[in-house]
Parts: sequence; structure tokens; C-alpha cells
Amino acid sequence: MKIPIEKPVLVTSALPYVNGECHIGHLRTYVPADIYVRMFRKMGYDVTFVSGSDTHGTPIVLSAEAQGITPGEVIVKYHAHFKQVFKELHVDFDYYGQTDSETNHRRTEDIVMKLIENGHVYKGEIKQAFCTTCGRFLPDRYVEGTCPYCGESARGDECDQGCGKHLEPGEIMEPRCKICGNEAEFKDQEHFFLKLSSFTDFLLDYLDTLGGTLNARNYAKEWVKKELLDWCITRNLEWGVKFPGREDLVVYVWVDAPIGYIAFTEELLAARSGDENAWRRFWKEDKATVVHFIGTDIIYHHCIFWPAMLKGAGYSLPAAVVASGMVKIDGKKFSKSRGDVVWVTEFLERFHPDTLRYYLVAQSSHTKELDFSWQSFAMRVNKELVAIFGNLVYRVLSFASKNFGVVPDGDIEEEVFEAIKKTKEEVISAVEDYEFKKFVDAVMKLADFGNSYFQREEPWHLIKQGDQGRERCGAIVKNVLQLIKAICILLEAVMPAKMEEAWQQLGMENDVHTVQLDELLVPIESGIALKEPGRLFEKVEL
Ligand SMILES: [Zn+2]
Ligand SMILES: [Zn+2]
Repeated sequence: MKIPIEKPVLVTSALPYVNGECHIGHLRTYVPADIYVRMFRKMGYDVTFVSGSDTHGTPIVLSAEAQGITPGEVIVKYHAHFKQVFKELHVDFDYYGQTDSETNHRRTEDIVMKLIENGHVYKGEIKQAFCTTCGRFLPDRYVEGTCPYCGESARGDECDQGCGKHLEPGEIMEPRCKICGNEAEFKDQEHFFLKLSSFTDFLLDYLDTLGGTLNARNYAKEWVKKELLDWCITRNLEWGVKFPGREDLVVYVWVDAPIGYIAFTEELLAARSGDENAWRRFWKEDKATVVHFIGTDIIYHHCIFWPAMLKGAGYSLPAAVVASGMVKIDGKKFSKSRGDVVWVTEFLERFHPDTLRYYLVAQSSHTKELDFSWQSFAMRVNKELVAIFGNLVYRVLSFASKNFGVVPDGDIEEEVFEAIKKTKEEVISAVEDYEFKKFVDAVMKLADFGNSYFQREEPWHLIKQGDQGRERCGAIVKNVLQLIKAICILLEAVMPAKMEEAWQQLGMENDVHTVQLDELLVPIESGIALKEPGRLFEKVEL
């Protein structure tokens, strides 16, 4: 699916659940989303980028109970933590909100009311896990057991170790209480349901036209084709958005979490324009393109529940869902208890954020699993950033500064223009296909070309060969500076801070963050003073 350039684009990134610190697994979604936004802006699109903290649901309540504080106190702490991490990593949201905001409460109530009015919600009895020892019902994460679909161990609302399917209350087998560990029993309880089954035909058609990555579409289609169970949308909790007319029930966290995308758009646009209705062109009037970046673990929620809710309540539908593969650590699944985890704040104490941004996209293609290891991180930094690109910049700028001090005179050769043109095309098509690895590989190839062009022309010999030699030498240098300029523009999306540094070394005075792709083929101006070159990247020692 080609994103139309004449419409504004809203890019969202999945909401981090704020009951713990950010680890590098989280970043697999946020960093590529940020790269995508930066590239689309360079391509001339009008892009808005929002996300926020997911603040409701049982894990936060459990974690508050364990610490003897309120859920509100848990979210304040980690909301601030995630905001800080995104700032340090230059993941530049236009707006980062949180789902406990008044706007989100109001928007969720509105959508649930519309679903009720349109006949999509009914009252029913379910078998809910109940712990006789603790004397309480066990919603979602309060219960653990076995997945009825694949037999792996699962949480109350999700098969997190196995097939990844969302589980309805009462579906889990051999339920145990998470608090006391005892066997739970099932008791009947009254809840509200969304008639998800009646959206089957709509979803099959919708998924056929949905843009984004194939893994999202295909995974969702498979579950829709099998059979959709109606969806229990209420829980017995104090913490959350109240179900209309029921003080004892809140809506399930997966109802109000994605509605956060709408609430954040409302909050941002109202503050920006003063117009309370500005959000409507994105979510009601179909005048914009909405692209969701998520992880593969929440495809079910974004490709099944979410479009059904939007459709049922009369809202516009997202155009694309982009699902990144999960991150493993040395071949193992993330586990805080086993220590198989890399915390982002600890990482940033030792390494530059841009090296992590680069690694996350260069290591494996977006939809595939990424297996993090310190060896592979060191390899990417040392063999690519230091040896290919960093070397090109340092070597050429040092030579140019020493012999010319400014960008020398000369014409850009056809060969160089062609190489840049080809890279530009490869990069655009890679970004449009969410192939971020192909994007950085193409740019690294251009840096390789720069190194071999400089090597082949031997300007260090030319400089000693009189006026004619010096003139030819200057032209060679100018051509390589043109290549470096192009690489900076392209890689700004991936390594914004480092490219700002390189841009300054080139003596450029405009803002590398807002330069458009059209600039790639504009010849670098002769006569601008080059700045003192410094090494852009340090070698990683293990
Ligand atoms: Zn399963
Ligand atoms: Zn119990």
C-alpha cells in the first residue's frame, strides 16, 4: 500500500505498559517508528507522531499492592522514566500522553456508549476464576494456568509463552491464583461482551486491504478464519475506566489502551490549534492515514479488537499495522528473574544512543526476531560505523581540512550522482516497505563506494603534482564530500545526534534534521569552511 502524500499521516507507537523500566525489547517498536517518521518528513509528508503510557489493567494493580502504594503512584514513576528514555534516545514524539487522562476516560466512555447504542454489546454470565483462599475473583493477570489452544503456560488474558493468543476470562485451564499460588475455581459472574463474532466478515475484508507488514495481516486473518469468540470487555477492578452505569466494573485495559491513540491526538491538536474538533479529521472523517507501529505480541489486539471497536462505534479505520519481531537476549526470551534482560538506562551509561538506534535496525529485518548479543553489537559498531562510515568521514575531512580548509572547487561526477540517486531510490522503497535493515544497508554501501572512490583516485598523489594535480585533487575531495553530505541526510533518521555532528564538521549551517531528500543531489557549495574533524564513533571493546 502506497501512503498518499496529499493526506496528513498519523503514526502511533505501541503504548509502553508503565509498571517497570524500559529494556531494549521495548525499543524495537519505538526506534523504527521514529526513523519512519523522520524519513517520511524528509520525503515531504505531513506527519504527526504520538504515543503514551498504558496505565490500566491488573499488572499495575498487582505491582501497587506488592509495593504498598497506589496504582496512580506506580504510573507516575514509570511514566516519567519512559519519557526520559525517549528523550535520551531522540525518539521525538509530537505528543506523549497517558491513558488515565480525562480525555481518554471521556473518549473511552463515548466509544463504549456508541457500541452499546449500536447494539454491539450484551450482558452475559461467564465462568470467572475465583480464589477461595484469598476470597476474591481473579481477573487477567491475577490468574495463571495453561493455554487451551497450545498447552503452554499462560496468563489469564494472554498465552504469553506459546501461541500468543488473547484468552477470554474462563478460557484458561488449570487456573492458579497469582497471589497465593493455590488452585482457583470457576464461579459464574455477570459481565458485558462485545459481539466480536458479528464482525467476522467485516474483519476479513478489512484485513485484505490493511497495509503494513504481512506478519500482522496474516496472523490476524488466521484467527478470524478459525472462529471469533465474543469479547468480554469488563473486569471487576477499581482501577481503570468505569463501564457506563456500573460502579463495580471497569472496561478491560485493551478497550481503553488503543483509544489512547485517539485521546492523544485530541490532546495534541487541541493544544496546538485551539480547535477541539481538529482530531476528527484523523479519526472520524477519514481525511488522514493512520499507521500503527506495534510488536508481534499485540497483533491480535490491533488487528481484531481495535478495528471492530472503531467500526462498531463509527470511527475511521487505521490504514496500516506494522509489527516488529520480538527481541531475544543471547537466544533466550526476556526474563528479569533469570537476568536475560538489557536495561536501556544501563546501556546508555556506556554507549551512545545512536549506536543502539543503528544496531536495532541493522541487526535484523523489522519483522524478524532480533537476537541481541554484545558480540553482534560490537561487530555492527566496529565493522560498520567505525570502519566504513566513521573512517570515510574522518579520513576525507582530515585530508580536505589539511590541504584546502574549505570545500574545494570542482564538478560532481556523473558516477557520484548516479550512486546517490540509486541509494535514494533504494532507501525510499525500503522505508515504504518497512524494511529498515535494507535502508541502512543501502546507505552503508554508499559509504563503501565513497571509500573505494577516494582510494582509487589517490588524491594524496595528485596534491603533489602541481596546479593541475591540485585542481583534480580538489575535485575528487569535493565529490567525496558530496557523498558524505548525502549519507548525513539519509542517516539523520537513524542517528540524529551523530549526523548533526558530522553535518557541522562539513561546515553546513542549515539544520540537518529538517533537510529534505531533494537536497541529496544539490551540489555541495565550494568555499564553505570545513570544521575541525573529529572521530564520530568509538570502537566498542568487550
Ligand atoms: Zn497458546
Ligand atoms: Zn489466592
